[in-house]
Amino acid sequence: MRKTAAVVVIGAGINGCSIAYNLAKDGVRNVLLVEKGYVASGPTGRSSGIVRQHYTIETLAKMARDSLRTYRSFEQEIGGDAGFMQAGVVFLCSEQNAETLKKSVAMHQRLGIRESVLSPEELREMEPFLNIEDIGYGAYEPDGGYADPALAANSFCIAAQKEGVEVLLGTRVTGLRVQGAQIRGVITDKGEIATETVVNVAGPWGREIAAMVRVEIPIKPSRHPVVILKRPPQWRTPTPVWADLVNGWYFKPEGHDGMLVGSISSQEADQEADVEKYSVVTDYDEATTYSDGVLRRFPVMAEGLVKGGWAGLYDVTPDWQPVIDQIPEVKGFYCAVGFSGHGFKLGPAVGRIVSELVREGKCSSYDTTVFRYRRFHNGQLSAGDYDEYKILG
Ligand SMILES: Cc1cc2nc3c(=O)[nH]c(=O)nc-3n(C[C@H](O)[C@H](O)[C@H](O)COP(=O)(O)OP(=O)(O)OC[C@H]3O[C@@H](n4cnc5c(N)ncnc54)[C@H](O)[C@@H]3O)c2cc1C
Repeated sequence: MRKTAAVVVIGAGINGCSIAYNLAKDGVRNVLLVEKGYVASGPTGRSSGIVRQHYTIETLAKMARDSLRTYRSFEQEIGGDAGFMQAGVVFLCSEQNAETLKKSVAMHQRLGIRESVLSPEELREMEPFLNIEDIGYGAYEPDGGYADPALAANSFCIAAQKEGVEVLLGTRVTGLRVQGAQIRGVITDKGEIATETVVNVAGPWGREIAAMVRVEIPIKPSRHPVVILKRPPQWRTPTPVWADLVNGWYFKPEGHDGMLVGSISSQEADQEADVEKYSVVTDYDEATTYSDGVLRRFPVMAEGLVKGGWAGLYDVTPDWQPVIDQIPEVKGFYCAVGFSGHGFKLGPAVGRIVSELVREGKCSSYDTTVFRYRRFHNGQLSAGDYDEYKILG
């Protein structure tokens, strides 16, 4: 193990791998990526991998737009595979959210994102099994879809290694050394590394890493279950990803005959999960409730089957937006944490942002005001416009 590093990145999820890759590609030598498990062993490996651009906050929409471009041309741009499938993504809403939806689509079109507002009849034409009874409008982005998060993180990690990044797996960070408000080193269970720059990308453990330098980041880890159903034989046609803002669910095609279901309700994060002991399997009640959610939108699923499911962790902040910032109190301490259940799709852009912050002291590619750490102290939170669906930013 090397004894010194220019930058130590903590956490090899999608964002940590993308950050390490971008730093090295942009010319930073001696970057070390430290991970207590294996690549994507945290929430990244349990992610649904949906890649959509529909956000109400402009910076997020731009980041999602640019990240989608990378996922679509991953092999040429980064190397390796991210498993991207261009299935399209549809947002469904009632009259209640119609104004927000239409406003967001107009903003996206201005940013060059292909997205259009559809009527219930047009939606039914797109998917004959869709129940349109309570739908006011839909927003369709044909370029979105989903990727394979574990594959994407590993591909970023391999690309980072090719650029000279050293990756230490099975190595837990247990402390950070600070002297005169400046980072001086990283203490791990395998030894100490001297460094003046640390990037905390530890997801739900990000609060714990920040606490090592007495910085408090309000991250609440919460459990996010997903249920997988098998579609009935009469429904084998391709279908896009659906975000149902009427009832609070998302549905993602899984393989050629499956459907993955998860919740988009902010209430899901009401309860704090124990990061070491939470249940990683879905239970009977969850399978039943989530199946009902699918059934309401796709009545044909009455003939479907529950195949199983799993649960992962969200790292939720008070406004459901991440902290991507240099922490002012500790020189050399950067954070990219608190992605609140929507950080996979943003991974490529997050890598670029942190690389700029570390190398140039500021980010020129995006207005990152919404991600500032200080917002929790000055009360200027970065909530989006869908009140009950903060995950949509
Ligand atoms: C079930 C589920 C579905 C999701 N669906 C979507 C989706 O459809 N679209 C989307 O965009 N996002 C989705 N998300 C969110 C997305 O997956 C996450 O925001 C993203 O993967 C976070 O990546 P990350 O690199 O920031 O952190 P993580 O994946 O959380 O990785 C952090 C890493 O840090 C390591 N670590 C922690 N502490 C230490 C330590 N002390 N020393 C060394 N290493 C440490 C951990 O082992 C872990 O590997 C979903 C999340 C879940 C759980």
